[in-house]
Amino acid sequence: MTQTENKPATQETPFVPIEKIVALCKRRGFVYPNSEIYGGVSGIYDFGPLGVELRNNIRRFWWWSMVQLHDNVVGIEGAIITHPRVWEASGHVENFVDRLVDCKNCKRRFRIDHLPPENVVSNRCPVCGGELTEPRTFNLLMETYLGVVEGERMKTYLRGEACQNIYLDYDNVLKSSRMQIPFGICQIGKAFRNEVTPGNFLFRQREFEQWDLQFFVHPSEMQQWFDYWKEKRFEWYKGIINHKDRLHFREHGPDELAHYAKQAFDIEYQTILGWQEWEGIHWRQDWDLSRHSEYSGQDLSYTDPITKEKYIPWIVETSGGVDRTFLNLLIDAYEEEPDPSGKEARTVLRLHPTLAPVKVAVLPLQKNKEELLTTARSIHNKLKRLMVSQYDDVANIGRRYRRQDEIGTPYCVTVDFQTLDDGTVTVRERDHTSVWYSEDRCDY
Ligand code: ATP
Repeated sequence: MTQTENKPATQETPFVPIEKIVALCKRRGFVYPNSEIYGGVSGIYDFGPLGVELRNNIRRFWWWSMVQLHDNVVGIEGAIITHPRVWEASGHVENFVDRLVDCKNCKRRFRIDHLPPENVVSNRCPVCGGELTEPRTFNLLMETYLGVVEGERMKTYLRGEACQNIYLDYDNVLKSSRMQIPFGICQIGKAFRNEVTPGNFLFRQREFEQWDLQFFVHPSEMQQWFDYWKEKRFEWYKGIINHKDRLHFREHGPDELAHYAKQAFDIEYQTILGWQEWEGIHWRQDWDLSRHSEYSGQDLSYTDPITKEKYIPWIVETSGGVDRTFLNLLIDAYEEEPDPSGKEARTVLRLHPTLAPVKVAVLPLQKNKEELLTTARSIHNKLKRLMVSQYDDVANIGRRYRRQDEIGTPYCVTVDFQTLDDGTVTVRERDHTSVWYSEDRCDY
């Protein structure tokens, strides 16, 4: 098979309304509202049969790029619940807050840091111009309790960010995996936040999944590794999208930087919602390990095996979201392509073939010839051992192609009458630019 060429996207391609993505996700089994039969829970979603395939592919590809391809990076999987002191050391109990205001007129709620500056100054709602309430402060950590006996239960938190486990396990990894600085630890895992303004579908949820790299370095090499990972991550995202011009860095201004950070960059992607953070590249210096050393009383410093220098390692963090990747990829891939013959436009997801939930569909041309069906089923049975394959013999061939286009399947294998004569099939590529249905015949 020839490699699928993704159709180049241009700036003129209009932004996709989020409602179209939400509808497609529900219709085709990517994403469902959580507890829908009870009316749903705002900011929490479930993933359906195709959604889970796409998520697994996204996770796998990140893990492969970050852990498997880097000899100096290993992975862990930490627990969602940790000792409550972790969140005191990390500063979340004290500082993980959102300040929000409500519009007295239209009752909309806004995070102050998301309001346009002129509305903060005028204290007016950006939507209806109504007066805004006094700011109120909310902590985003989700509380939970360990233990069964009332009065003896310990209050703790569902983790507000996944990366804390990496600091907690840093010393264990160092001792058990014979890593030496510079080295990194990766993790993918759920995080929970009582977001005060959940919304925009998967973009801001209360339960979501993050991926993190924490890369531990000698202070003198911080800048070099920061630059390395910043570029690496940008190229990674660029490699999986079509609209390359909708990706950029936004450097944090001095008023946004944490006191220990010399620099911070967000990788942002542009959608109908504007430019939004996809992943953050952070200069964390020795903040995290120093804090956990202080709060736990354990020495988390590192002794260089050659120079014997003892120091707290500095950290470069790259922290992004599986869910924002999922959403941005669907937005980036979605296209409605007019039919040259004037029929209904075809909806196509131009997903990178590595990430597409279904890699191949095997389609007998017609249903009324048993030999076509058995041959198609036997090809599907071979293919499904290697990749996610679907067999489909329901409806005419054009409709079946469209069903696959809508979920981003890069290849369709069509079994026709010639197949029975010479053992070849038609391979149709989803993204062939010049004709709708390219017809390269292949042996099988
Ligand atoms: P934002 O400014 O959008 O609230 P953040 O700066 O708080 O994001 P981080 O704490 O740095 O985000 O989290 C790292 C990544 O986790 C983000 O880049 C994003 O991809 C993802 N993420 C953060 N909050 C959410 C959420 N509520 N829902 C889905 N993904 C999220």
